Formats: sequence, C-alpha cells, structure tokens
Amino acid sequence: MYKYPDIDENLIKIAESAEDELKEIFGKIDEISEVNQYKVLKAFQDNRVSDSCFNISTGYGYNDTGRDTLEAVYKDVFHTEDALVRPYITCGTHAIYLSMKANLLPGDELLFASGMPYDSLHSSIGITSCPGSLMESGVSIKVVDLIDGKDFDLEKISENINEKTKMVHIQRSKGYSTRDSLSVEKIKDVITHIKNIDSSIIINVDNCYGEFTDIYEPSDVGADLCVGSLIKNPGGGLSPSGGYIVGRSDLIERCAYMLTAPGLGKEVGSSLGSVRPYYQGLSLAPKVVSESLKNAHLLAYMANRFGYKCYPEFNEKHACIVQAVEFNDRDKLKAFCEAIQKASYVDSFVRPVASYMPGYEDDVIMASGSFISGSSIEISADGPLREPYVVYFQGGLTHEQGKYAILSAIDSVQKK
Ligand SMILES: *Cc1c(COP(=O)(O)O)cnc(C)c1O
Repeated sequence: MYKYPDIDENLIKIAESAEDELKEIFGKIDEISEVNQYKVLKAFQDNRVSDSCFNISTGYGYNDTGRDTLEAVYKDVFHTEDALVRPYITCGTHAIYLSMKANLLPGDELLFASGMPYDSLHSSIGITSCPGSLMESGVSIKVVDLIDGKDFDLEKISENINEKTKMVHIQRSKGYSTRDSLSVEKIKDVITHIKNIDSSIIINVDNCYGEFTDIYEPSDVGADLCVGSLIKNPGGGLSPSGGYIVGRSDLIERCAYMLTAPGLGKEVGSSLGSVRPYYQGLSLAPKVVSESLKNAHLLAYMANRFGYKCYPEFNEKHACIVQAVEFNDRDKLKAFCEAIQKASYVDSFVRPVASYMPGYEDDVIMASGSFISGSSIEISADGPLREPYVVYFQGGLTHEQGKYAILSAIDSVQKK
C-alpha cells in the first residue's frame, strides 16, 4: 500500500492495521470537522465577507473593513459578544498576557484552576521574576492543581476563591506537561461551579491547540474570555502571525485599550492588507484540525505498539491536537525530533539542536520545518530536555504527510 523505501516494512504493516483500528475514531473526528466547517462558513456568509475585505489600508487604519470583518467572523464562530484578532498580537503568550493585564488591577487576585500555566507565561505572570509582570504590578496569584492531572479540584478551588479573586484562568491544553487536556464538558462544569460561588469572576481560557477539536468551544459554556494563537489551530496553517481574544465586549474593550491606547482601542491598527490568509486559514481550520487529530491518534497507536506511554492513549478522546509520548531517553527524544524535521517540507536538511528559548526554563529541542516560522499547526515536535524526556507532537496540515513523518520518526527511534 505504501511506497516509503526508507521505512522498515514491519512498521508499514503496523500502520496499515492502525488505520483499520482507528476507523471509528477517525469517523467521529470527521463529524466534528463537518459541524465546525459549517459554523465557519456561516460566519463568513453572515458577515458578508467580500473581495473588498482583502484591500489594503494604511496609516491609522480607521475603517479597516478587512480587519473589522475578520473580528466579526471570529466573534460569530466563537459565539461571543466581541473579538480582537490582530497580526500584531505577536503570539499566544502575548494574547494571554494581554487578556490578563488588561483586566487585572493592583490588589486583584488571579487563580489558576488547572495547575501551573504554560512555561512561556511564567515571566509574564511573575512566577519567574520579570519587569512588567502581573505580580510586579500588584496582582497576586494562587494555583490549584488538577486532581491526578485529570479533574478540577472543585473543593480546593472553592477554598482559594476570596473577595480579591477577580479572574480564574483555565488552560485547555496540556502544554509541556503530561496532564490531561481538558474537555469542554469538564470546563463547563468548573465554570458553573465558580460562577455559583461568585458570578462576577472573569473566566479566562487559554484555548491554544483546542480550537475545533470539539463542536463546542469554552466560550459556548460560559467562559468570559477565550484566547489563542493564530499560528496554531484557527490559523489553519495559513495565518502568518497573530493572536486572538474573543469574549465579553467590556473585557475585550479593555484588551483593545491595552493593545493600542485607552480611547483608541479597536478603531486603530492598520492591517496593512495582510488579512487574506487569516480568512483563508480560518476557512480551512476545521479540516486542518481534523487532520492533526488523526495524526495524533496514529502516533499514539504506533508509540503504544512499541511500549511507550502516551498522553492521551490512542483510544482516548483527544481534547486538543497535542500528542505527548514519553521516551524516558534523551537520545530517543532527539531522534524523534530530528526525524520529524527530516520529514518536513521546509528545512528538511537541517538537524534541530536543543537550546535556550525565551520564556522556557529548560533547553528545548524543536522540530519545525514549517512555511510559517514556528507554526505548530504545521507538523512539529518539541520537548524540553528534562526527565522523563517527553516529546510533544502536533499538527500536520494533511494526514498523509503526518503519516509519513510519524512512521519515519518511530523508525528512527526504534533504531536508537
Ligand atoms: C502555544 C501555547 C501557548 C503560548 O503560545 P505562543 O504562541 O507559543 O506564545 C500558551 N498556552 C498553551 C497551552 C500553548 O500550547
């Protein structure tokens, strides 16, 4: 069936049985993608996306139709009151920091309800001391871990909410940890719990890697803000940069004032004619995410066959596109990333080397042979060089490329 001369034949046989065994799961992924595809299409049509949206604006960017319409489309896709979608929200970390900084004042408390947040946020928050951090400006923080890395600790969350608690942050995806990614259903339950204690608490969800993996988004189940990166899921592999924040209009307004200037907000900021790929990427995103999910399941299946622990396992529902595999071996982690790089369209001839990355505490090895630099909706694999040497694999715009990359990576690991 396959013609991969460089891959072990036995591995190709296992992959054939994988595709067979995963048929039912793949069917469910296709159903989710269909629902989301229609949702996105409808949002484009309802907002009358037209050729004129792709025209260039300059200067202050007043009445930048392309920018304003794109934000209206995002608002509708996520069923929220408003959206801020900008190429100069530079990345996911920036978007998340912005959503917090804009809505927290000195004396306010921020509670992390899904454990310590993603590595790159530690400086932004001030867990790692840094000028300009939230903690420096007088925001206090509390962290409640998940129970066994799976469930929200409702009791501890209640205990840690007090009159200062202004915002609760929930991270949907596992990030660089092996805890579960959180289903929208679980997020719904914790939001209900928190709102019952105090309905004025702002629920802020880091939605990175979660978009379109379910037919519902956290914003459908009570999140006041949802935040993410455009070089991940909703960018569909085509958005060249950027981040988004969707949610309640009063909170989005504060984010916009923080991003530009109080009084200016969303009115300014020329998109410089750059918006076409943001639309095009979003139009493809549901399908692209479904391809990524299939890649994640296939990798988990293959890795499981060779005895590696996977988070989640291949037959578990995936709540985000990230697939973690525990190698317990530094060389295997490196071999995996090197092989993923080698199977990429861009820079296939270079070898990734672990090094310092701004925002991360340990050296990180990153395979990313992507058209958009650092894009992790394109095929990518990375991991901090620390025990137990877990690789975090995600993306792949097509399942065909994903399959080839996964087979070569497993082949390469097994030869170590
Ligand atoms: C990627 C990611 C971020 C940060 O995004 P960057 O674009 O890398 O700054 C935050 N949280 C989670 C869960 C992520 O996966």
